[in-house]
Amino acid sequence: MLKNNGKKTAITVASTACICLLLLLVAVQHHRVQVDEERNGEDAGTRSLLQQQQQQEEEEDAQPGSAQVKRGFSAYFTKLTRGRREVEKPPRSSASTADPPPAEDINANDIFIAVKTTKKFHQSRLNLLLDTWISRNMQQTYIFTDGEDEELKKKIGSHAINTNCSAAHSRQALSCKMAVEYDKFIESGKKWFCHVDDDNYVNVRTLVKFLSQYPHTQDMYLGKPSLDRPIEATERLGDNKMKPVNFWFATGGAGFCVSRGLALKMSPWASGGHFMNTAEKIRLPDDCTIGYIIESVLGVPLTRSNLFHSHLENLQQVSRSEIHKQITLSYGMFENKSNIINLKGAFPVEEDPSRFKSVHCLLYPDTPWCPPQVAF
Ligand code: UDP
Ligand code: MN
Repeated sequence: MLKNNGKKTAITVASTACICLLLLLVAVQHHRVQVDEERNGEDAGTRSLLQQQQQQEEEEDAQPGSAQVKRGFSAYFTKLTRGRREVEKPPRSSASTADPPPAEDINANDIFIAVKTTKKFHQSRLNLLLDTWISRNMQQTYIFTDGEDEELKKKIGSHAINTNCSAAHSRQALSCKMAVEYDKFIESGKKWFCHVDDDNYVNVRTLVKFLSQYPHTQDMYLGKPSLDRPIEATERLGDNKMKPVNFWFATGGAGFCVSRGLALKMSPWASGGHFMNTAEKIRLPDDCTIGYIIESVLGVPLTRSNLFHSHLENLQQVSRSEIHKQITLSYGMFENKSNIINLKGAFPVEEDPSRFKSVHCLLYPDTPWCPPQVAF
């Protein structure tokens, strides 16, 4: 009787343990599938699209179709909501602007701001920047374009630089411009190199405050990644040998900065014609090539900041009360809708579709064309 009971208990215990183990296995498997699904859906940015395009060209197996790209964008926007919640948490290793202790007393003249543009955008994009943030920062801003423009020269003189690069949106043309930006920065002797696109508003006061947290002699690479995992690329080693490389890069469309100390170390891969060669070696666009040289070759990690913004993110999520604290802003289109910051400012959206004029009046209310004493 007792023996029988003991047997029964043993069988019950063994079967319960088996069921628990089974349940645990099911749960683990389910979690894995979820993680994989999330990974597959994550991709964003035209720059990463460029990479997909390149892989397509090379491998001629058209796997990332437009449906996947669209899914990628939606996933990216969902992710940004998560990203924003993360911003509100106290930062881990990322850069914060909450009363940063200054490491160095720098001013706007210590920064070299390179604006990448192309002749066809001189009217539609560049003039808006010249009328707004560049007008207050002529001494530190350099315009890198691909054609002569007498009007532009009158406005900014020798700071309008004709790179003589091709006026195309190709990988080579964009890398050609970045190579000239790099060389001109080295020549300038300034402490910080910052790159932006011609659809970025730069709040130079915040940028100065932000950069003064770091010594320019140290290795600093600051910006915002456009992906939430390292980019996977293939390095061409010659002799038809390839090597897979993974690295983070700051998206050029949000702007990024590099300290002089680090920029000098990049020289063997970035100066003269070397930048173009390096870009060819990994066959990726200019901003990815910068990330490759810094993270992969030199082993310096990207310092993330959520104060840089590109139009690849949902700009509505930039908090209205925090607009003046951001370093860069942008504007653009997403799924046929305009992607702009939410600001009830000096000008209505019809008069100021990018919102840059309104931002400018918020930051510099003494600007002659800003409506006087507007309460926003
Ligand atoms: N650009 C360029 N040549 C071109 C097209 C664009 O130099 O033929 C520049 C443009 O002025 C901008 C940057 O590349 O500074 C990114 O272009 P855009 O904003 O049109 O595209 P995105 O990559 O942001 O979607
Ligand atoms: Mn853009």
